[in-house]
Order: sequence, then C-alpha cells, then structure tokens
Amino acid sequence: MKAGCHISIRGGYLAAAKTAAQIGADAFQYFPKNPRSLAIKSFDRKDAELCAAFCRERGIASIAHTPYPTNMATDEGELRKATVASLRNDLEIADACGSVGIVVHFGKYKGKDSLQGYKNIIQCMNEVLADFSGQALLLIENQAGEGSGMGTTLEELMQVRSLCERPELIGFCFDTCHAYASGLWPAGEDGWSRLQSHAATLGYLSLLRAVHLNDSVYPRGMGKDRHAPIGRGEIGERRFIPLLRYLRSASLPVVLETPVLKGMTHASEIRYVKELAER
Ligand SMILES: [Zn+2]
Repeated sequence: MKAGCHISIRGGYLAAAKTAAQIGADAFQYFPKNPRSLAIKSFDRKDAELCAAFCRERGIASIAHTPYPTNMATDEGELRKATVASLRNDLEIADACGSVGIVVHFGKYKGKDSLQGYKNIIQCMNEVLADFSGQALLLIENQAGEGSGMGTTLEELMQVRSLCERPELIGFCFDTCHAYASGLWPAGEDGWSRLQSHAATLGYLSLLRAVHLNDSVYPRGMGKDRHAPIGRGEIGERRFIPLLRYLRSASLPVVLETPVLKGMTHASEIRYVKELAER
C-alpha cells in the first residue's frame, strides 16, 4: 500500500518528495501553491520535473490539493473566473510534478436552487478541462456535509462526473472522515464492506484514484469535519482494518490529513497504518 501524509512545499516540489521519502512515505499530498489564495502561480517547471523524476524512481505517488477558497459551485462572476483559472493552474502544476491529480470539493452554493449549484460545478469542470492535454486528473472529494448536503453521496458524485464533457479526466478521492461525518459510511462493524460493495456496483470504486485517511473527532452522521489520528477517533481501528486490507491491493495514494503534535512528523502513523493493512 502506498501511504503517506500532507507535506509542505516550502523548499519546492522536489524537496517535498524528498521529505516524503525521508519519513518512509511512498505517497504524499501537497498544496501546489498558496492554499489561502486563488492567485495564479508561475511555477518552477524544472523543479516540478525533478520532483516527477524522483517520484518515478522511488515509486512514490503524489496528489495535489486545491486551495481552500476554490468553489466550483459558485456563480459569482469574479470568484467563478478566478476558480476556473486557479484550478487549471493547479492541474498544470500537478501534471508537471507527475501527480495523479488535484483534489477538489464541489464547494458551497449560496443560492436557493441547488440544481443551479450542480450546473455551475459541471460548467466549471468543463472549462477547466477544455483542451487540457496532460495526464493529471480532477479528483472529486466527498464532503462532510457541513453547511449543505452537497457532495456527500456516491450517486451524486457519479452523476455529476457523467454529465461533464470529459469524464475520462475525472476520478475520485475518498475521504474517510467526511464519509463517516456525512453518514455515507454505514454504521456497524461491517460498514466498510457494505460501502465497498455499494461503491463497486455504482462504478465508483473503479474510478477511485486516491484516499484521504482520517479518523473522525465527532460521531457518525453529525456532518462535522474534524480529523483525528487513525484509531483515536470515532471510526476506530477495527473499522479501518477492512478498508486498509482493500487498499493494500490497490496502488493508489493513501494520504493522512491527521493532526500531529508540533515538531513531530507522521512517520510513526504511516508505519502504524501500513501495519494495520497487514492484519
Ligand atoms: Zn480530505
């Protein structure tokens, strides 16, 4: 199983990949640019290409995460334009870094007609992917359900993807904490097994390209997005094992977005997760 964590690009993209290798990660996630802004980054292509080559050599898989203000559901003119341009920029950086794709949420729609929100999301993805010729994918992440219920069900994610002009450039990133918070992950010990067969039936599982592995601070179905270290939250070790067993056979990146104490790394949690997958 390829497992790792979120890593800072303070020293550049190659440096981030080297940090991943140092802590025993063979997967990692990074922000392609400033996570608090949609401003376009004119990135160092050479550094990105060195990152791609390093990862290829070491068998490391990476994913990029889009900045926080990204909102595909919006129809406010300026924000919409900035979101499309920013996503295209993220996609180009991720592609140069040899990443699987960029993780993006549906976002929030403020209007009354939620159907319009979905139309905005589809239109946004169409514009981002028009004439894109790289390998990196848009990876839609399921949401926790905070604010609105948008982006919480697999049926909805599949349907939105299929209505896009270039669905072959769209895959999925499954966030375990969000799935638990939204109630998508069924209750009970066999929660993952049930979800796995449901996801396979819908065709979601074969389009899964990355996993955000997080435990949940809050109980199932509360719609609250607060990540806990694996095995120390409401999902708990026993519920993770069947999921990790499944992921062991897949080569997709599994990335921790869990809190660590200041000055600490994720190294021991990565080892723990890999060990759980072998149980
Ligand atoms: Zn996530």
